[in-house]
Amino acid sequence: ISADGRSLSRSSYSRIEPADLLVFADIIGQNHVITDPFEVLAANTDWPRDCRGQGGHVLRPGCAEEVSAILRHCQKRRIAVVPQGGNTGLAGGGVPVFDELVLSLSRMNRVLEFVTTIIFTLKLSQLESNSKIDAVAGLVVAEAGCVLADLDSHLSEHGLTVPLDLAAKGSCQIGGNLSTNAGGIRVLRYGSLRGSVRGLEVALASGELIDCGRVNEDESRLVQLMIGSEGTLGVLTKVTLACPPRPANVRLVLIGCDSFQSVLHLFSAARSTLAETLSAFEVMDAATMSAVSDNLKLNCPLSGSSEFYALVETASCDASGSNDAGKLDKFLECLVSLNHESAGSIDAVISNDSRQFGAIWALRERAFEALVADCGPAGGYMQFDAAVSDRLDMQRLVLATRAEFGQLDCVIRVAGFGHLGDGNLHLVVTADPAGAAACGLWPRVEAFVYGWLARRRGSISAEHGLGWKRSAYLGHCKSPTAVSVMAGIKRLLDPQGILNPYKVLPPSALSY
Ligand code: FAD
Repeated sequence: ISADGRSLSRSSYSRIEPADLLVFADIIGQNHVITDPFEVLAANTDWPRDCRGQGGHVLRPGCAEEVSAILRHCQKRRIAVVPQGGNTGLAGGGVPVFDELVLSLSRMNRVLEFVTTIIFTLKLSQLESNSKIDAVAGLVVAEAGCVLADLDSHLSEHGLTVPLDLAAKGSCQIGGNLSTNAGGIRVLRYGSLRGSVRGLEVALASGELIDCGRVNEDESRLVQLMIGSEGTLGVLTKVTLACPPRPANVRLVLIGCDSFQSVLHLFSAARSTLAETLSAFEVMDAATMSAVSDNLKLNCPLSGSSEFYALVETASCDASGSNDAGKLDKFLECLVSLNHESAGSIDAVISNDSRQFGAIWALRERAFEALVADCGPAGGYMQFDAAVSDRLDMQRLVLATRAEFGQLDCVIRVAGFGHLGDGNLHLVVTADPAGAAACGLWPRVEAFVYGWLARRRGSISAEHGLGWKRSAYLGHCKSPTAVSVMAGIKRLLDPQGILNPYKVLPPSALSY
């Protein structure tokens, strides 16, 4: 079932019978009860293609009431259900482990309501009489199956943007994003996604629909409980999100640095000089950049090679760009003086051209894809999503893992990249699958990395969730009491354990 060879027994859920399929067809229509082997296989296989369940059915409800009716039936019959969004998750949370029913939200992709778009026209004495200040504050209500990029392009027509951006935006859904409390490249700018949620509609395991309304202190507690629950406490059907104004001016600087210390200096300089215009600060090491160029043939526009690469993005709503340009100049002055101190080893490219922009972002956004391509997906890599409080730990963990395993014949690469602004490291080890299996590499790597993080008080999951892959390791970052509180909440909301079983909590924490 998983790369590390953990095995688990199927719990005593009911198998899906022909009579159940008739009930489902009655609720959503025969066309939306999917049994086509090709589509079923796709829904059973996760994005990195290293978790594959054996479910035989996918249901595609068209509205919250249909989700509710399906769950009511599943609860009655004790059928296990996996809510699935865009299936881009990297923790094996959105696919069955055994033969669970897949509940796909893909048809529930409507933007329902544009609640408010407030445009203030202020005529202040110190402004010219026809000057306008647009302070646009918007709330969008969307079905949970809206694809992130589609939602963002809808919002762009109103001068707004989703306060979340990640490389999987073309496929992941806003419901999946909230269920994993996705991070991505804009956390530095807009904070955690959970802070932008103003309301949720959720179908509970019993099938009851709860609408955790709009801004309301009491309701927001329930909203926060559901965010990040990875489909184990309820199925999100509708989302109300506060959306910031869409930036009018975006610039990107790609910088090659000789040391991680230089990257950290640059991060401090970026925070103080770019201030509120800083919208992303990402880092990649040389091993990651070489995978991007070896495997995807993408070219880095910098002239030489470096140990680390930082992507610094600025964005503001100042259409003239004069405010940003002044701040960027100050940042570049810091860059020049740092370059002087490090004897000319820093190299940089600045872009505000949209085509070059996309090409530079692709180096970072396709990093994971490039690393997986080292060895093919089946058992050829292991990826971690670590959070650390000391930013230097981002490099220390990569170096420690490289020192421990890098010399083994089967290991191809130990690489690190991530969201420096949030202290979030994606560590990837790639290896020849047969060699890795022969020397029991993956359990050793997993034990080493999680042990290292536990000692440094880091977290084993920064933004991808625990899903199936990390559920057994929850005890590395949560006390036994915290785990049993989580299990208690699960039992209260889902007494039969039908929602996304085997995920998030270790099997020992729950017995159904
Ligand atoms: P799925 O993969 O379908 O499901 C993920 C989890 O959410 C599962 O547990 C599932 O059961 C649950 N779920 C889905 N929809 C619902 C719903 N409506 N109600 C209840 N539960 C639901 N993640 C980041 O955080 N930051 C990144 O920068 C990032 N970059 C990525 C880059 C690439 C190339 C890829 C492939 C993935 C990346 N991810 C990243 C991971 C992934 O895109 C996110 O976890 C995303 O939020 C998952 O959304 P999804 O719709 O694909 O959910």
